[in-house]
Amino acid sequence: MATIGFIGIGNMGTGMARNLVKAGHEVTVFDLDTEKAQGIAGAQVAASGEDAARGRDVIVSMLPAGPVVASVYRETIFPHAAADTLLIDCSTIDVETARILADDAHGAGFEMLDAPVSGGVAGADAGTLAFMVGGSDGGFARAEPILDVMGAKVVHCGAAGAGQGTKICNNMMLAIQMISVAEGFALAEKLGLSPQKLFDVSSAASGQCWSLTTYCPMPGVGPQTSADNDYRPGFAAGLMHKDLGLAMAAAQASGADVEFGRAAFDAYDRMVDGGEAGVDFSGIIRAKRGLS
Ligand code: NAD
Repeated sequence: MATIGFIGIGNMGTGMARNLVKAGHEVTVFDLDTEKAQGIAGAQVAASGEDAARGRDVIVSMLPAGPVVASVYRETIFPHAAADTLLIDCSTIDVETARILADDAHGAGFEMLDAPVSGGVAGADAGTLAFMVGGSDGGFARAEPILDVMGAKVVHCGAAGAGQGTKICNNMMLAIQMISVAEGFALAEKLGLSPQKLFDVSSAASGQCWSLTTYCPMPGVGPQTSADNDYRPGFAAGLMHKDLGLAMAAAQASGADVEFGRAAFDAYDRMVDGGEAGVDFSGIIRAKRGLS
């Protein structure tokens, strides 16, 4: 069993750290919010990031965004982690920062992987996340047994940054699908159709997708989702907006045609501008239904 420092015990990190404890690893957690860190039964709570980083076999981070990840690694982890500690960042950040950090880690004598996830809070809690991993073959081989504890699917996507690249493509697809489902239900409502009948048909027909059958934005139909809990996140619209911003920057840099991705970015931009960054991303349906 490994000694693991886990930094960032938020919506996602909580379930991920709990699963590492459950698997028998010796986990030490740190979050700026001490109350969140104290919520992991069986884990040690570190007094500081340095404390969580020192003397571990592996460090896992699950932080909000690129600048936070860069500062935590540069100021806390690189200077204090033991030689040969394996570094795994599971946050969603831009490809460029992931590549630069992996290079910096290498220069400081560490192996670092970008390993963002898909599957949401439910996947984090259940240990069924999908991990998209960028980094060396050797680093991946060391990380796989740890990631297997937290995920149902672990894919080595390529060199440093490839995990993040895969993640932003996936989330751009997710955003477009969520809006398509929201618009489908909004149109059905205008036509006086039953949302339950639409769900029954589309979930078994060609409109089927994860945003419909697993994360339905329409309250009262399909599985229990954030929609049935007043759109509490879940996956906040602000984070989806961040991911779409990363996708738009990558599309611009690479010259990709992302017409519907751009439209999805604009829709989440309006949601965030309207003060709804903390609302679940499926709450985009409220604007489509004329409710916000
Ligand atoms: P969150 O805001 O709930 O959690 C982030 C945690 O990091 C917070 O508890 C915060 O206090 C802590 N933190 C911030 N700065 C810190 C620092 N310097 N040192 C220590 N702790 C610090 O966010 P989340 O929903 O858990 O998402 C985390 C990451 O996972 C994001 O990059 C997000 O894009 C990605 N993600 C989220 C979901 C989801 O459904 N929520 C799904 C896939 C990927």
